Amino acid sequence: MKAGWVWLCGAGPGDPGLLTLHALNALRQADIVIYDALVQKDILAWAPQADHIYAGKRGGKPSAKQRDISLQLVDLARSGKRVLRLKGGDPFVFGRGGEEAQTLVQHGVPVRIIPGISAGIGGLAYAGIPVTHRDVNQSVTFVTGHDQSGNTPSALDWTAISQGSQVIVIYMGMKHIAQIAAKLIAAGRSLSEPCAVVTTATTADQHVLETTLGRIVDDIAASDMQPPAIICVGRSVLMRQVLDWQGQEAGEPVRDLDPLGRGRPAESA
Ligand code: SAH
Repeated sequence: MKAGWVWLCGAGPGDPGLLTLHALNALRQADIVIYDALVQKDILAWAPQADHIYAGKRGGKPSAKQRDISLQLVDLARSGKRVLRLKGGDPFVFGRGGEEAQTLVQHGVPVRIIPGISAGIGGLAYAGIPVTHRDVNQSVTFVTGHDQSGNTPSALDWTAISQGSQVIVIYMGMKHIAQIAAKLIAAGRSLSEPCAVVTTATTADQHVLETTLGRIVDDIAASDMQPPAIICVGRSVLMRQVLDWQGQEAGEPVRDLDPLGRGRPAESA
């Protein structure tokens, strides 16, 4: 890392093993690490030489504080520090990384972007759910369950998403799951459509709930699952019956070798 630069870096969904080599190098070289609420604390242990500054926004006033964080990055870089801005998952996926980087560039601060594994892909993979699977989907839609005001995003056309998206991966969806599920069902998605909720994915606290669109609200309420959570809507969730590799590691039997009922080996044309 060069002095006076900011590296805007993804930390992945939790498991430190999912950091990139660039992220690890940056952790070892940084003077300052500014990290978000979703960055696992054990990742910071890779940067014992650096000052660690918490910049979590949970419950705060997002827009005002976001500006403060960006300007703090500018100040630190201008004072000649090697600044590592560490964000959960990928910095450009529902992470305001674009806004922070834009502010830095506007202030003439040189920036390097290091992508990370996003929870909506890597978190599902840890639950044994392939975000695309040839027999299920040729497209996937990532949506956020919140907009800037904290409401269900009004700019989203849920009917179009429901009709056009084979698999829907919802970030920040727990608070408004009742509204989201109702909108998807009203737009024609089946009550029996498979869904999964994966909380604190890739960490030792990972929990997975398998349910359906018709039952998801009650099943979440009956569980004690808390955010952060990724919610996946679509038949790829069924693949967990064969691909729950963490369950298999813990000695659980494979539930179904062919959960999509194709009746042929997976690799045949
Ligand atoms: N930039 C991040 C997303 C930030 S938005 C990324 O690419 O993953 C925050 C949301 O991400 C959370 O509300 C949750 O929906 C999701 N998320 C992040 N880490 C997660 C984890 N370990 N398990 C489940 N969901 C996670």
